[in-house]
Amino acid sequence: MNIGFIGLGNMGGPMALNLLKAGHQLTVFDLVPASVQVLIDAGAHAVHSPAAVARSDAQLIITMLPAARHVKAVYLAEDGLLAHVTRGVRLIDSSTIDPMTAREVAAKAAEQGNPMIDAPVSGGTAGAAAGTLTFMVGGSEADFAHAQPLLAAMGKNIVHCGASGNGQVAKVANNMLLGISMIGVAEAMNLGVALGMDAKVLAGVINSSSGRCWSSDTYNPFPGVLENVPAARGYSGGFGANLMLKDLGLATEAAKQVQQPVMLGALAQQLYQTFSAEGNGDLDFSAIIQLYSGKV
Ligand code: NAD
Repeated sequence: MNIGFIGLGNMGGPMALNLLKAGHQLTVFDLVPASVQVLIDAGAHAVHSPAAVARSDAQLIITMLPAARHVKAVYLAEDGLLAHVTRGVRLIDSSTIDPMTAREVAAKAAEQGNPMIDAPVSGGTAGAAAGTLTFMVGGSEADFAHAQPLLAAMGKNIVHCGASGNGQVAKVANNMLLGISMIGVAEAMNLGVALGMDAKVLAGVINSSSGRCWSSDTYNPFPGVLENVPAARGYSGGFGANLMLKDLGLATEAAKQVQQPVMLGALAQQLYQTFSAEGNGDLDFSAIIQLYSGKV
C-alpha cells in the first residue's frame, strides 16, 4: 500500500521503517532532515510539507507527532493535511494527545470524507523498533477493522477502545496510573530500606504480595533490585520523566473537562513537575525515587 508518514522521531522513525520492511511504499515528511534521510536510505520517498504528503498517491496517512499543537498544525493549517487530502484517504494519528483534540480533528476529517482514527501507542522506543507496540485505537468498528492489519506491521497488541478519542482516553488513564504506581513503589521501597530492610528482600515480598505491580516487579526504581532497568544504569534510557509529566498533564486537563477528580494524578503531576524543574526531565521516570532518597 502507498502510505504517507509524518513525524519520524524516536517513535515514528522506527515505526516507518517497519512499514517499509513489511513491503509498503512510503512518502515521508519531518522537520528534521537527518530523520528524513534515514527513511530515504531505507527506500522511502521524501517530500517537503504535510500538503505534499496529502497530494501524493498515499491511500492512508499516519502521523506521529510530539503534542496536540503539532497535530493541529499538521492537520488543520492552510498547508496542512485536511486542506489538501483527497476524499476517502484514511488518516491515523498515533501521537499521544488529549482526547478532546483527537475528537475535534477526527470530526473535521470525517466531515470532508476522510475516516480518521486515534491510535496512540505504548511500548516505548524498544517496542517501536521491534514492531511490538500496543496500539489503543479510537474510532468506528469499520475503521478499526480496516487499520488493524496495517497496525500489525508495527505492533503486536491492537486494541479497539471504542469511539473516536477513546484510544487517547485509554492511554492517559493507563499512564496516569503508571505515574502514580511508580511513586507508590518508590515511597514504599525507601520506607522499607530506611527502616532497615534489604531492598531486594523487600521487593521480593512485595512482588509476591498484594502491593505487586509493574512498577515493582518489572521496572523497580530502587537501584540494585533488578538488572536491565533504568535504575541499574543511572536512570538513563527508558521513558523520560518529561514524557511522564506530559502524560500526567494530559490526564489532569482531560479530567478538568469532565469535572472528574484525579487527586493522586494531580499530586503525581506536581511531583514530576518538581523533579523536572530541578533539571531531571531527561532521566527515566523511575528516577522519581530520588525525591525520597534525598538526591533532589
Ligand atoms: P520525537 O520528538 O522524537 O518525534 C517527533 C517528531 O515529530 C520529530 O522528529 C519532529 O521533528 C516531528 N515534528 C514536529 N512537528 C512537526 C511538523 N509540524 N511537521 C512534521 N514533523 C514534525 O517524539 P517521539 O518520542 O517520537 O514521540 C512521538 C509521540 O509518541 C509523542 O506524542 C509521545 O508522547 C508518544 N510516545 C512516545 C513514547 C516514547 O517512549 N518516546 C512512548 C509512547 C508514546
